[in-house]
Amino acid sequence: MLDPVKCPKCDPPAELESVVVHEVEVDRCSSCGGIWFDRSELGRLIELEEQDLAPLLAGKPNEGANQRHGACPREGQELIRVGAARSRDVIVDFCWKCQGVWLDAGELERLRNAPPKS
Ligand SMILES: [Zn+2]
Ligand SMILES: [Zn+2]
Repeated sequence: MLDPVKCPKCDPPAELESVVVHEVEVDRCSSCGGIWFDRSELGRLIELEEQDLAPLLAGKPNEGANQRHGACPREGQELIRVGAARSRDVIVDFCWKCQGVWLDAGELERLRNAPPKS
């Protein structure tokens, strides 16, 4: 059995809950509202309608969690903080090993609202 997936930001670590949106299973922390997207999952979900994403958009932005460094919930690699491809203003936590992305609460919404790149 796989170990429960732990939130990279919460201390003590909270377990992530899987949420299925349009057949894509993502892992969300109900404690801090952050969401883990495995490789390519974010790209598949970000353009969906707001009502479809409602379970993921809940949660208040939390500067404390945002500033914290975390480890990848998959294999423990330290996440690096990078500007999102979609909007450099939104700093996300990225695992270069498995290409997963952690979004803190509120960041999914910010990415969706980001002006398209010209
Ligand atoms: Zn958390
Ligand atoms: Zn990883």
